[in-house]
Amino acid sequence: MQRRLADVLHHRSAGLEKGDPVSLPLTTSTSFHLPDVQGAPYIYARNGTPTWAAVEAQLALLEDAEVVGFPSGMGAISAALFATLKAGQRVVLPSDGYYVTRVLSEGFLAPLGVDVVQIPTLDYATADFSGAAVVYMETPSNPGLDVVDIADVCARAHAAGAIVIVDNTTMTPLMQRPLDLGADLVVAADTKAPAGHSDALFGHVAGRNSAQMARVRDWRRLSGAVPGSMEAWLLHRGLETLEVRLERMCASAAVIAVRLAEHEAVRALRYPGLPDDPAHALSRRQMQGFGFLIGMTLENATVAERFLERCPYLVRSTSFGGTHSAGERRARWGDAVPEGFVRLSIGVEPVEALWGAMAEALR
Ligand SMILES: *Cc1c(COP(=O)(O)O)cnc(C)c1O
Repeated sequence: MQRRLADVLHHRSAGLEKGDPVSLPLTTSTSFHLPDVQGAPYIYARNGTPTWAAVEAQLALLEDAEVVGFPSGMGAISAALFATLKAGQRVVLPSDGYYVTRVLSEGFLAPLGVDVVQIPTLDYATADFSGAAVVYMETPSNPGLDVVDIADVCARAHAAGAIVIVDNTTMTPLMQRPLDLGADLVVAADTKAPAGHSDALFGHVAGRNSAQMARVRDWRRLSGAVPGSMEAWLLHRGLETLEVRLERMCASAAVIAVRLAEHEAVRALRYPGLPDDPAHALSRRQMQGFGFLIGMTLENATVAERFLERCPYLVRSTSFGGTHSAGERRARWGDAVPEGFVRLSIGVEPVEALWGAMAEALR
């Protein structure tokens, strides 16, 4: 992994000519000089641009796979599902996973004749996948942080004749490697930690089967769900510091999770890094880090909202993975969690300043 991370930083170096800009130029051109149609690296910006190519090269190094970029995480998820499913086939989805994936599947795949089956993430450990064409999973689940064994699910899904798609957003390729564990496709929202500054939407699909990836690429070109150049450029910049940001975020989350778990105001705490968390043993085996997300349950909705209101270092927003720590009471969206459940995303603030503010707000 160390080698891959260094290569991400230097992926343009070998191709630089004397006088070339060292940092990636932002190319906004939609058309490319095309005196004849043979052999041009770029033709028209819906097919590809130098800025996408650069960010896809970084992501391909991180994933050790082919990568196709999309304008958002949902853009990537839609592409993976529409590229792999046909009428009459079945997809299995996590009932406790990212809710937009479920709404998309029910609203658009089901009316086209796809059988959409939802089961809780923990049930993937024992589910019978026979009859499924696609088994779609998300681990750790968002926001409950339940973890399921990717290699085991892949083995059973493949034996049943299904392919496996893993939403790897919460871990990133630095902390969890679903393709190495047998998954066919990875989907991810780079909007979160990879872009990392809460200012760009982006997503990608990664895979090692060229035929599957060609279909994903065709979906992008034909549906027109293409990333913007500016967003690709921002993600390229964000990826250069992803490792150092994650190091701070995860180290701080580990410190804060221990202190929250011991705090009298906290009714329940989920963080895969805590030795007594139900997901700890599997997380240790399957992940290369425990992440920066913490699930904390306070007494009730009022206490939770008051905590968020009073903590100046927690942005009250619905995303995660940014430089700023953030918190949100998830029941306000109808997630199946207690009213006082708060999803915390730990950012890059110095940990004692952040903890001081959180402790004060809890008091
Ligand atoms: C945010 C998120 C998505 C969707 O990403 P967008 O860029 O907002 O479309 C998908 N899956 C998970 C787990 C997410 O957290």
